[in-house]
Amino acid sequence: MKKPWTLNKAENLFDLPFFTLLFKAQKIHRKHFDPQQIQISTLLSVKTGACPEDCKYCPQSARYKTGLKTERLLEVQKVIESAKQAKKSGSTRFCMGAAWRNPHERDMLHLETMIKEVKLLGMETCMTLGTLNNQQAQRLANAGLDYYNHNLDTSPEFYSSIITTRTYQDRLDTIDKVRKAGMKVCSGGIIGLGEKVTDRAALLVQLANLPKAPESVPINMLIKIKGTPLENNEDIDPFNFIRTIAVARIMMPTSFVRLSAGREKMNEQMQALCFIAGANSIFYGCKLLTASNPEKDKDQQLFRKLNINPQNTEITLNNWKKIKYQEDAINQIDTEQFYNASS
Ligand code: SF4
Repeated sequence: MKKPWTLNKAENLFDLPFFTLLFKAQKIHRKHFDPQQIQISTLLSVKTGACPEDCKYCPQSARYKTGLKTERLLEVQKVIESAKQAKKSGSTRFCMGAAWRNPHERDMLHLETMIKEVKLLGMETCMTLGTLNNQQAQRLANAGLDYYNHNLDTSPEFYSSIITTRTYQDRLDTIDKVRKAGMKVCSGGIIGLGEKVTDRAALLVQLANLPKAPESVPINMLIKIKGTPLENNEDIDPFNFIRTIAVARIMMPTSFVRLSAGREKMNEQMQALCFIAGANSIFYGCKLLTASNPEKDKDQQLFRKLNINPQNTEITLNNWKKIKYQEDAINQIDTEQFYNASS
């Protein structure tokens, strides 16, 4: 059994001299990953705004006046078109986010169709839809959802200063249901909420000590959005952000650590240091839910300068094509090329 991380041990990592910390993180990173390879995900908001939750950083909460245009659940066709674009740009995972407290039963079929259609493009799928019950988690897993995103955001101690409409335990419970349904977990946090270093350490302890660490750990830098309660928060020192990435890499050696929101505020040198610290996944494309993200070709230029190869995951395509063809075969009437033995 793995030894659980203690807060003290995590804080000691944050206290290491910067170069020592980065060296340690890079050594661990190279043991488990190709340092030149970055996994690319694209995130699409499939239902925007009017969220009943009160996350103080989020423009999608109905409680804050941010001027955000709300949108109902997108048609499946629009989602497929976006996923095709994302794939063309090199994304291997397509993440779909809905601003809900939890999905409604009436939307489940629609969500399942989105998952199946995106899988057929040969992409991994991820959704973030809020709290799930066991049945919903199982339905999403059965539809083929690879990852479910549910961020812990910050430490248990600081959490209630940021969100009051749900508890930390609610988040942990949903993560547990996702695991039990057989999906991979994507869970991380936000740096710059006004938390202390000890809260960052405590967040990473929570994630690393889950029965199984999340396969994907997004580390976001707060995007200060006008109209949200955190719009005037102090900027986070870039070195403190990079330290958090390095500690995440050390504590969760085999997880993909994702450089997520806030990347457009980072210059190329800062992003390169994040990659050295062990980040090996990014969001790509011009929209990150409702905030902007660096333009695709800027990312491509940076990748060229750093000799980075986008990761390729075609295994999913083959498996899913096979399953879909089998399903189609059973439902298909006879054609010249195809004789349906099951009819
Ligand atoms: S972060 Fe998610 S749950 Fe919180 S207000 Fe925004 S959309 Fe709603």
